[in-house]
Parts: sequence; structure tokens; C-alpha cells
Amino acid sequence: MSTVKYLLPEDRIPRFWYNIVADLPAPPPPVLHPATGQPVGPDDLAPLFPMALIMQEVTQEREVEVPAEVWEVYRQWRPTPLFRARRLEKALDTPARIYYKYEGVSPVGSHKLNTALPQAYYNKLEGKKGLTTETGAGQWGSALSLACAIYGLECKVFMVRVSYNQKPYRRALMETYGATVIPSPSTETESGRAILEKNPDSTGSLGIAISEAVEAAVKNPEVNYSLGSVLNHVLLHQTVIGQEALAQMELADDYPDVVIGCAGGGSNFAGLAFPFIGRKLRGEADTRVIAVEPEACPSLTRGKYTYDFGDTAHLTPLVKMHTLGSTFVPAGIHAGGLRYHGMAPLVSHLLELGQIEAQAIHQLDTFAAGVQFARAEGIVPAPESNHAVAAAIREALRCKEEGVSRTILFNLSGHGHFDMQAYLDYHAGKLQNYEYPAEEIAMALAGLPSVG
Ligand SMILES: *Cc1c(COP(=O)(O)O)cnc(C)c1O
Repeated sequence: MSTVKYLLPEDRIPRFWYNIVADLPAPPPPVLHPATGQPVGPDDLAPLFPMALIMQEVTQEREVEVPAEVWEVYRQWRPTPLFRARRLEKALDTPARIYYKYEGVSPVGSHKLNTALPQAYYNKLEGKKGLTTETGAGQWGSALSLACAIYGLECKVFMVRVSYNQKPYRRALMETYGATVIPSPSTETESGRAILEKNPDSTGSLGIAISEAVEAAVKNPEVNYSLGSVLNHVLLHQTVIGQEALAQMELADDYPDVVIGCAGGGSNFAGLAFPFIGRKLRGEADTRVIAVEPEACPSLTRGKYTYDFGDTAHLTPLVKMHTLGSTFVPAGIHAGGLRYHGMAPLVSHLLELGQIEAQAIHQLDTFAAGVQFARAEGIVPAPESNHAVAAAIREALRCKEEGVSRTILFNLSGHGHFDMQAYLDYHAGKLQNYEYPAEEIAMALAGLPSVG
């Protein structure tokens, strides 16, 4: 497959999403129905998702066409820039060449709009009136709120309570786009009420907010649910990033030896990395690929690869993934984002296959890297993106030690303009490292569902 196919002079935005499943030596394990233990069929997912997305979830086709109505909106900010971090290279005094793909130029400030748009579009096409979703830091909620505004859907966002209180500007942004924002756990759903009964002061978690959003969608036939990461179709939509990067690296007459992305649910990492891994799987070019996560939420590096629920109330199907257990609640002092208990099944599968590596980094190191990056390149990264920045800097310093020049490419998944409180806390010395305790992991994993 030629990589320049997407790069006609008047068309530098991919017309297709790239589906890595077509190039995998073995498909990922199926999603299971929790009651029967059997693979779920399209009908099982129909109460939540439009058929177009359900089909994308299971397709084996290598290329999936971007609808014209979505492509037209991508044009507002895509292709996103690929920068060479020359001043950072100089500051590090490294022989490495460092490039970054900057997704922060989207109207909402992150990569998340790449999938929010097609998700809202397909739901509108299939006659839905609105969408429910959850949001942690607020990036996904912002993206879906805007996508719903663009295609004329209502949007209800269950926002993890600790973020709702700490990030009023994210909430203001979502409301500006016309969404309704509810702190989670809430009294609006059975799942929320059950949590509040046990713990009235619950600060919430993504797992809890997902339960609420799923329940609200299941109970209203006019409304569907939308997820901002983890699922195959979400990762598929994000591959516009990597396809553009392939073409842009070619324009730069270079090719990455190392590709790096931060990983919460795995979507921005996959979006950049999958087109490069595809070339690796097809024997066209070799690249090391690294997913970076926080020590405070180490699903890939310390979680278990097993079947687990996607949410706390166990309303979702069972997916095989690296997980810390669906009851996982991240520590309050962790400011770096990437707080989901599981990892995308496709990313987990690739780790099992040895196609990617995983690293965990402490939050003080990620913020130090983000500040160093900002002082050199001017862009203040989202705290999530700082994990990728930190790993890229480590690789560049290794090149210096070894006296070799390598090409490093990382995904700068978003800007940090709504996360300045975390930077204030960092500058004031209020952040500390937090390593998720082994006992906690063992306890959460003891509650895993048993699958035959
Ligand atoms: C949501 C988010 C992430 C983490 O989600 P993934 O699905 O792992 O990409 C990373 N960076 C930014 C800026 C985000 O908004």
C-alpha cells in the first residue's frame, strides 16, 4: 500500500480511516456478553450504538471511507501540523531528530474531535435525537458537545465529580456548545444513586460515569451512547493522525525509528501509531512503538490482560484488555489525566503480540518534561500529552548517551490551556508522585469477572 496515496496536492486529509485489524497476524479476542459468555452480536450493541459504528467495530476491511460530511468538517483544522522540535533538540543537546504531531489545533484543543464528529454524524443519520457520554478531564465531553452542535443533536455529559469541581472552564465550554453537564455520580441514574448511597462523598471515576451514561442511553430509545476512546471504531477514526504523519514524514524526507504516544484508553496513541505499525506488520518498514501511561494508573505495565467490564456498574460487555479492575478509582492527587482502568483491546492485543512497548512515568517527571517542552517550543501540552513528551525526551537523551542519531516522533495530543491549575499546583510544589499500590491492584483484580 503506497503511503502517498492520500497526498494529492489538493487533498492532504485522508479520505479513509486505516483499520489495523486487516494487517494483524491474529484478530483480537471477541467482545463477550456478560450473561452468556458468548461473543456479542450487532443486536446486543444496537441499544447503544448506530449500526454504522457497530459494523466499523468488527470490520476486517483495511480502509473505511470517511463520509464527505465529516471530511468537510475535518478540513477546518486538518491536516494538523507536524513540527520538528529544533529548539528542544538544542536544549537537550541531542543528536536525535524530534518531531511531534500537534493535535491541539482542533477547535476543542485535542485529538478527540476526530472521532466525536463521525460518531455524532452516524447517530444523526440513523435518526437519533441525542447522545449521552462521560468525561473525565473534560476533553472528550467538549469534543462531543461540539460535534452534537454541528450535526444537530442533544448532548448530555456525565462529568466525573472531582473534575466538575476542579475544572469549571471545561464545563463552561461544553455548555457554550449547548450540552447539559451533570456531575457524576448523580441522582439521575440507578448506578449513580447506588454509588452515592454507599459513599455520599464519592469523587467519581470514569468507570462510574460510563455506567451512568450507558444507563441513561439504554433507558431512552431516542438517545444513544458515545465513547471517546477504547473501542475499535474510536481508534479507527483517530488514524487520520498517523496517515497524515506518514505523508508529512515523507515530505520531511525522514522516517521515525521510534513512535511515542500517551495512553489513557489508547486512542491518540493508536491514531498516530497504527499506520506505522501497519507498515511494520506488512514488512515495509521497522519502527519501535511506545505507549506511555502514568505510574498512578498503570494498566498496560501492571494490569492484567483479561476479560473485564468497561464500567463500574457492569452494564457494558466484557472486553479482553489490560485492566486494573473496573472498581479502580484513581488517587485524588493525580493531576496527569489518563485515569481509565482499562486499555483499548487492540492496543492490549498489540502489546501481547510484542508489536509495541509500554512505559509508566511518574507525574513529577511528566510535568517537568512539559515545562521544558513549553520553554523550548512555546506550546503548553495537556498533562496527558506530557507523558509522551517525557518519553520522547528520555529517548532523545539516550541517543545522546549512546552517541547515535535517531528519529523520534510523538503525538502532542492536546494543549493544556484548560489545565493550568495542574501547572499552578506543579509550580507551587503541591504535586507529588503516586505509585498505585500493589495491594490495591491485587484487590481490584480479585474482583474480576470469571470467564470460562
Ligand atoms: C483524552 C485525552 C488523552 C487520553 O485518551 P486516549 O484515548 O488514550 O488518547 C490524551 N491526551 C489528551 C489531550 C486527551 O484529551
